[in-house]
Amino acid sequence: MANAVQLDNEKQLLKQYYAGQQIESPNGGFLIRLGIRPREDGAATAIFECSVSWIRYAVVIRKATRTERKKVKDALTAGEDLVCPRHGPSARLVRKGKELVCRDCGVVYGKV
Ligand SMILES: [Zn+2]
Repeated sequence: MANAVQLDNEKQLLKQYYAGQQIESPNGGFLIRLGIRPREDGAATAIFECSVSWIRYAVVIRKATRTERKKVKDALTAGEDLVCPRHGPSARLVRKGKELVCRDCGVVYGKV
């Protein structure tokens, strides 16, 4: 995983990823998510692999914005379902220690 390469269209890729769409690989085929590695600062690194070339790509998923954190905090206060602000209702936040994390993007969105 250490030799994963960077993509130049990360923004577009992440948009498709959050929407649950298939992501086209720059080498043809599709990118398959291999895993999510949470980072110390609350962000995460997603590892994708091309279904044709087997090249691996590392994409940084930026940490939660103030707005996203507030959204989750408000839902927590209101006793509503806690869902990922980026993935939507299909991705519920899970508790990891004291942190609320989305399993699909690995980002920390709040604390309990
Ligand atoms: Zn998410």
